[in-house]
Amino acid sequence: MSSNPLPLAEAGGLLTLDLSALAANYQELARRVAPAACAAVVKGDGYGIGLAAAATTLWHAGARSFFVALLSEARRLRDLLPDAEIFVLNGLFPGTEATYQDHGLRPVLGSTDEIANWRDFCDRIGQALPAAIHVDTGMNRLGLTPAEAVNVAEGRHELGFPLALLMSHLACADEPDHPLNARQLEDFRAIAALFPDVRASLSNSAGALGDPAYHFDLVRPGIAVYGGRPRADVAPLRPVVRLELRIARIRHVHEGETVG
Ligand SMILES: *Cc1c(COP(=O)(O)O)cnc(C)c1O
Repeated sequence: MSSNPLPLAEAGGLLTLDLSALAANYQELARRVAPAACAAVVKGDGYGIGLAAAATTLWHAGARSFFVALLSEARRLRDLLPDAEIFVLNGLFPGTEATYQDHGLRPVLGSTDEIANWRDFCDRIGQALPAAIHVDTGMNRLGLTPAEAVNVAEGRHELGFPLALLMSHLACADEPDHPLNARQLEDFRAIAALFPDVRASLSNSAGALGDPAYHFDLVRPGIAVYGGRPRADVAPLRPVVRLELRIARIRHVHEGETVG
């Protein structure tokens, strides 16, 4: 917390970040999901609290694997954390391959085209650089179909680069009783079994706070680390963001009067 905040009377409002709570939340989640490892998602400018504050705090709290959405975020993150493992969720746009190489970043490949582009790039530079593969088990957003993932598993010997991670994303883990959760778990388990030597990751915050069957090797919490409440049946961790606003005025009006 800042030691010298602007007096509330001089500001429109006061937003206070409690970075010690952020660190404590990360460590609490890491403890709850062990023996799975706990990554940290810092996309969207660290869920709005600022990438630098979030990333350096989480690194010092013990996080070593980080997820961002965009390559531009990944480059900023690399400058902050020279030794972190950094995954870029939005996939590999053509022409950006060398940026991944230059900054030691890992693309999350979500289509057969992206896999082919990464393989071609690795061939061209004569280096097999690790990447993650995303399989869609029901989110219907990014990722290979399960059938495409089976093909990748069968063609592993000619993949041309090592797999740093096999991942999927839960579509409705905030609704623990939704039948899609169990179906995604079952489908992801079957796919992960085809990649026994590769780390597997399925859970966001909501998944990380629930049944350990969903934890696999690495969980990817975001909102819970920042103090948000991803599911109604589990108490939130410590609040990280606190907003104070002065009430400017209270007025009483009669029914039918105008307000502007
Ligand atoms: C945003 C995101 C997460 C983190 O989700 P939270 O619900 O904030 O925990 C995990 N995995 C992927 C692929 C994401 O896009």
